[in-house]
Amino acid sequence: MSGGDRPTIRALDDRTIRQIAAGEVVERPASVVKELVENSLDADANRVSVAVDAGGTEGVRVRDDGVGMDRDAVRMAVDEHTTSKISDIEDLEAGVGTLGFRGEALHTIGAVSRLTVRSKPRGGDEAGTELRVEGGEVTDVRPAGCPEGTVVEVDDLFFNTPARRKFLKTTATEFDHVNTVVTQYALANPDVAISLEHDDREVFATEGRGSLEATVLSVYGREVAESMTRVDHEPDAGAVASVTGLVSHPETTRSARDYLSTFVNDRYVTARVLREAVLDAYGGQLAADRYPFAVLFVAVPPDAVDVNVHPRKMEVRFDDESGVKRAVESAVESALLDEGLIRSSAPRG
Ligand code: ADP
Ligand code: MG
Repeated sequence: MSGGDRPTIRALDDRTIRQIAAGEVVERPASVVKELVENSLDADANRVSVAVDAGGTEGVRVRDDGVGMDRDAVRMAVDEHTTSKISDIEDLEAGVGTLGFRGEALHTIGAVSRLTVRSKPRGGDEAGTELRVEGGEVTDVRPAGCPEGTVVEVDDLFFNTPARRKFLKTTATEFDHVNTVVTQYALANPDVAISLEHDDREVFATEGRGSLEATVLSVYGREVAESMTRVDHEPDAGAVASVTGLVSHPETTRSARDYLSTFVNDRYVTARVLREAVLDAYGGQLAADRYPFAVLFVAVPPDAVDVNVHPRKMEVRFDDESGVKRAVESAVESALLDEGLIRSSAPRG
């Protein structure tokens, strides 16, 4: 653009458009894992197994025993904007009960990796199907012997987008992100058996029998599970949110905040106001720069929260932010007070 040259405006080719779009959905292995696990949960799976190699940079495999897909569905699933979850904008406005609905995850993942989908419909006598996609091109579709449900394998993520590949962090960091994602879905779905393997070693496996305590034990181990206290108070009169879950003893902490898990209407979200509410409830009983464990389910009327602040991030915005903060803080504080884990503090102004 130097020397007074006018910039030339031109249309991007399809391949470039696809790769730019892909970069927005798929930032790192953990984003692949998130999309695949959501698909498995949307497919009514009772069991979801996640296995990653080298933090997911070398391979991601998600296997489920969900409803599965027949040959046509497998073919369509990797096309652009194909979904079985909504059919029009009215469905969307009526509220979607599924985690996905945009119909772009498999398509975009396929554009930046080598993707294999194997699937067989649940409870039918149709055969299984295997489909391969490389860098956005379907290279093979064939009948395949496989159990009911779906397995999706993503190899060589970003093999055709080297600039993206360069932004990947160390294996350990990428794995931390994967672990955080799978952990959140495990905690949010105690009735689904969810497991995580890294380089062929089991990291955790939940039982899927519906107990939050048992799920916390599987995910975080005995020391943490035994330090957890139930949050289950009747909301105060006029409270804008009801709050249930588990929080840890003020001395069972970590130096990272990753263990403060909050779910709004059963969806994993991050919101500064929720984090602050939990920390404030401990009323100064936490050591400096230490964070407790919390698994909190906040229920609010659907029209009191906007979950679409950013389509792919997990941020939310509440109509009545200070009301939500009060409800969460008071629920957690009551639980800690009941157990004698904190002393009652002077009334807050
Ligand atoms: P979305 O989840 O937004 O619909 P995706 O690209 O993630 O879009 O998936 C496209 C479609 O493929 C889904 O709507 C669903 O019909 C099908 N599908 C994807 N993963 C699975 C799975 N694990 N089990 C059954 N069907 C699946
Ligand atoms: Mg999806």
